Amino acid sequence: MRLCWSSDWPGANLLKDDLPGQARIYCLNVQGAPKGRSRCCHDGTFAAPESWPALAVTLGRAWAADECAVQTRERQAALSPDTALQELKVGNERFLSQNMRSCDLLGQVRATAGGQFPFALVIGCMDSRVPPELVFDQRIGDIFSARLAGNVAEDDVVGSAEFATKLAGAKLIVVLGHSECGAVKGAIDGAELGKLTHLLQRIKPAVEANRNAPGEHTSTNKDFVQRVATTNVRLAAQSLQNESQVLRDLVARNELKIVAAMHDIASGRITFLE
Ligand SMILES: [Zn+2]
Repeated sequence: MRLCWSSDWPGANLLKDDLPGQARIYCLNVQGAPKGRSRCCHDGTFAAPESWPALAVTLGRAWAADECAVQTRERQAALSPDTALQELKVGNERFLSQNMRSCDLLGQVRATAGGQFPFALVIGCMDSRVPPELVFDQRIGDIFSARLAGNVAEDDVVGSAEFATKLAGAKLIVVLGHSECGAVKGAIDGAELGKLTHLLQRIKPAVEANRNAPGEHTSTNKDFVQRVATTNVRLAAQSLQNESQVLRDLVARNELKIVAAMHDIASGRITFLE
């Protein structure tokens, strides 16, 4: 295996621990690289960011020099919104290819005790089948998670997003919906129960937006449920910016990216709706 090397790349010496005969992908963006200089390396070639997830799968494992090192202020600062997004995409590919990182979690607890510098916030559903840390293969201190039924972005979630980004430095917000969402089904069927009734109202605009969709508009129509869930996640991502000047400003300065994504509970695959 040939090493990647670049004279203007201060982290190039990190590649010196190469082990002969082992297929690896070197993602230097996690090593505190200068802003805008992130890159992945395989067999002597720096690969385009778009190809990282596929490359990781081809090699059977995404690997970084310090794959279990916790997020630090420097590592967080070195990531751009786009490279943060790549981190999550590569993480889901690790999950799907059963090459999840094996880390000393208690060691990470100790390493993060002095402060946290997560690179992303995932706003997801509380559904037991969609835990963000697992499906994105993230560890202690890597990402914030805000989870409510139906991944609704109500006021307290927006406030949490402002904290995660403006105050705690996260570069990316992913609103993560999923297939077969019970909250979406409840909103479609007009379910009523205690305070759940109020929460489900948050999903009604997504139901209404699909009023001309084909087929029966009930929770038994899988296609309709998926349509509404997808609309719901897009609307939630949009509403974060609509409702928060803080988040709008960060996006305008390219210091934050907000994206919607859907998780398929049958496969574990996450599709980003960019
Ligand atoms: Zn759900």
